[in-house]
Amino acid sequence: MKTIRLRAGKERSLQRRHPWIFESAIAKGSADSGETVRVEAADGAFLGWAAFSPTSKIRARMWSFDESQRIDAPFFAAAVADSTRARARFDINSDGLRLIHGESDGLPGLIVDRYGDTLVAQFTSAGVERWKAVIADALLAATGLTRLYERSDASSRALEGLQPVTGWLRGLGEVDLVLREHQWKLGLSIADGHKTGFYLDQRDSRKKFADYTARLGFKRVLNCFCYTGGFSVAALAGMRAAGVSDGQVTSIDSSGSALAQARANVALNGFDADMTTFLDADVNASLRMFLEQGRHFDAIVLDPPKFAPTVAHAERAARAYKDINRLALKLLEPGGVLFTYSCSGGISTDLFHKIVAGAGSDAGVDGFIAERMGGAPDHPMTITFPEGEYLKGLVVMRK
Ligand code: SAH
Repeated sequence: MKTIRLRAGKERSLQRRHPWIFESAIAKGSADSGETVRVEAADGAFLGWAAFSPTSKIRARMWSFDESQRIDAPFFAAAVADSTRARARFDINSDGLRLIHGESDGLPGLIVDRYGDTLVAQFTSAGVERWKAVIADALLAATGLTRLYERSDASSRALEGLQPVTGWLRGLGEVDLVLREHQWKLGLSIADGHKTGFYLDQRDSRKKFADYTARLGFKRVLNCFCYTGGFSVAALAGMRAAGVSDGQVTSIDSSGSALAQARANVALNGFDADMTTFLDADVNASLRMFLEQGRHFDAIVLDPPKFAPTVAHAERAARAYKDINRLALKLLEPGGVLFTYSCSGGISTDLFHKIVAGAGSDAGVDGFIAERMGGAPDHPMTITFPEGEYLKGLVVMRK
């Protein structure tokens, strides 16, 4: 067993059970990609077992802080079974759910989503890459399923010195699936969609948006960064519940294939295509155009991609967030409602709140913060890994 020794003082974050060891924290020791290493403090005290990653800035990620724990197939079987069991305690309302959420589930770099009977996994760290076959077997055993598709094409793999890999890892099946979320059917492609195919983390927000639409009787809805139209379907469901048949849901995305899926999802739920408009366009430019045209909306969703992957990008990202929020607040009818999000790890909840407040004051608009939102509960954040809180949202009611 190889050992890595940390520099003096660098043991503190591990003593709080944070799972990352940065390159700069290591005094000596090395290993192969994904190899298990014993981690010691500067004085030689045992700290834990980790997976080594020779090219990554995050040079090692912890598997365990228990000296008696062996990192072997039973370890992974137990971790996967624990995560799967935990999901049964969450309120989910869908047959699509996140089974494993990386560090928060004790498996750094592993994402596993379940869509009905199909599992989709992303292996994004050297450690889980090395244990891939063992983890695949553990996933099938814990779920009783037979099909597992791999989507290890996230750009973060390159930081770990890993090549992209996609395709069936266990079993074979369809890659175009339909998931049930709340009362809705949502088609997705696990082969071509973003990430593993769908943004499961916004499940609770989509439900909330449907409820607001029904309760407040929204008729003119704008869904920005709509992807496959989850919030658009939610709006149409809310309109149907409220008996609104002359509503109009405008959805914008810059991806043609996402918009095609969004259109298909409207049809799949039996909604009226005449109540929808899909724009293949840039959101910022579209918002400016709507302002020039003097258009207004009862409700707007802003769910942009990650503008700030890390804190280093926060400043530029903050300006981009502020800009779209300012435009959206101006486009809202008085009494209208903005559902606004950031999924950037580099933007804290606090900072996001400040950005939206700044956007309001630039727009000359005041509003009530009616709700604070986060990711759905199957994307948990843990006490020891606050970085798990990436998605934050606000529901702002314009005065
Ligand atoms: N709200 C969606 C998820 C949004 S993901 C859901 O509930 O499923 C972000 C989306 O923004 C992606 O579909 C991406 O294609 C789109 N996008 C990224 N940059 C864009 C831009 N400048 N203008 C329009 N769409 C953009």
